[in-house]
Amino acid sequence: MTVSSKAKYRRILLKISGEALMGNSKHGIDPAVIKYITQEVASVLALGVQIGIVIGGGNFFRGKALFEAGLGLVTGDNMGTLATVINALAMRDIFEGNDIATVIMSAIPMSGIVDHFDRRRAVRALEEGNVVLFAAGTGNPLVTTDSALSLRGVEVEADLLLKATNVDGIYSSDPQKDPSAKRYQRLTYQEVLEKELAVMDLAAFCQARDHNMLLRVFNLRKAGALLNIVVGKDEGTLVS
Ligand code: UDP
Repeated sequence: MTVSSKAKYRRILLKISGEALMGNSKHGIDPAVIKYITQEVASVLALGVQIGIVIGGGNFFRGKALFEAGLGLVTGDNMGTLATVINALAMRDIFEGNDIATVIMSAIPMSGIVDHFDRRRAVRALEEGNVVLFAAGTGNPLVTTDSALSLRGVEVEADLLLKATNVDGIYSSDPQKDPSAKRYQRLTYQEVLEKELAVMDLAAFCQARDHNMLLRVFNLRKAGALLNIVVGKDEGTLVS
């Protein structure tokens, strides 16, 4: 695939939380949200940019909540991990229905339903223009899909990690609670740690830092934001 000269990145890896797929519902999947994501992704593919997506599972289960409700820690995490596969299946269905070639690579083998993650095959699929949906997180309990973002990002040599959130970047405090909260345009990994800003799970954050990954936090619900980022416009907050 030839990358358009307009694009600043060749290969990006986007993390979408399961919660983002709920839309206005209290749990589960709103297909309209996935259709919207399809359009945003298509705009980036049109430039020849390769895109992988790490999908969360919090719209169904999160290990931490299940543990607090009385289930075993590892069982809860395993349930959350399976939820990410359910989300990936819904996304593949709608992406393919919109003529976007899509491959799901799961960290846990699920023969006949999804492909098992294989780094070299994932890279090849991206190079051939497929969207690769990375499901089942890292395949291990005790972490979240933030860790899958940093891990897969390093493995497939993504030029940029993107974390989609409900607000348009990293703020000095929670903008939904504090009207004086200010958005940072750029931060270093060190500044995030010093200011104790909640960006993503600490283990994932440190892994991304240790491998010099560029990380951008932005609001995927803002139409055109993904494309803006890919062509080098200012959206959200860049951590480097
Ligand atoms: N999970 C896990 N290992 C992983 C990724 C996810 O055990 O590598 C479990 C964990 O319980 C997590 C849940 O799957 O809470 C859903 O993932 P996540 O919380 O990242 O989903 P999101 O909040 O992004 O929707």
